[in-house]
Amino acid sequence: MVKAKFDRFKRNRKKMAAPISEQVQFAADRMLGRLARWLRVLGQDVIYGRHLSGYGLIRAARAENRLILTRDRGLKQKQPPPFIFIDSNDYREQLRQVIRECGLRAGDALFTRCLECNAVLQPKSKESVESLVPPYVFSTQEMFFWCSQCRRVYWPATHHQKMLEELRIIGVL
Ligand SMILES: [Zn+2]
Repeated sequence: MVKAKFDRFKRNRKKMAAPISEQVQFAADRMLGRLARWLRVLGQDVIYGRHLSGYGLIRAARAENRLILTRDRGLKQKQPPPFIFIDSNDYREQLRQVIRECGLRAGDALFTRCLECNAVLQPKSKESVESLVPPYVFSTQEMFFWCSQCRRVYWPATHHQKMLEELRIIGVL
């Protein structure tokens, strides 16, 4: 039943013009913080928070037509909208599973989303971030992005390299 529901969801998504990787939006349950973060690294739209479990998760997913990612075996008794039950406890395997089942293209939108609050990052001029970043960063970096929601500033530096390496190890890039 659940599988059929998800297949129907996937079919409907595929009928739309844009590729599936741009279409699926996720609601991750509160047990999946690490997975949510890594999906955001890939640019995926994922809501995540402590309130997202049980009926709270179901309500949030319904409100924005999001696909639920859950480790909660009891969720299916609550008549949820389409969901993926995440099999593994390990975030690497979790990430592989979501990419596989949703047909995501992992490299398309890397580092385009705020890892903390899920908003899409905006480019920001170098001059405008001088007071916001450490002097060393300001003098060595040229490209900056920021999150208009939480006002974090991002720049491509070593942490991007580490994340890329990790994604290659996981086998999704
Ligand atoms: Zn943010």
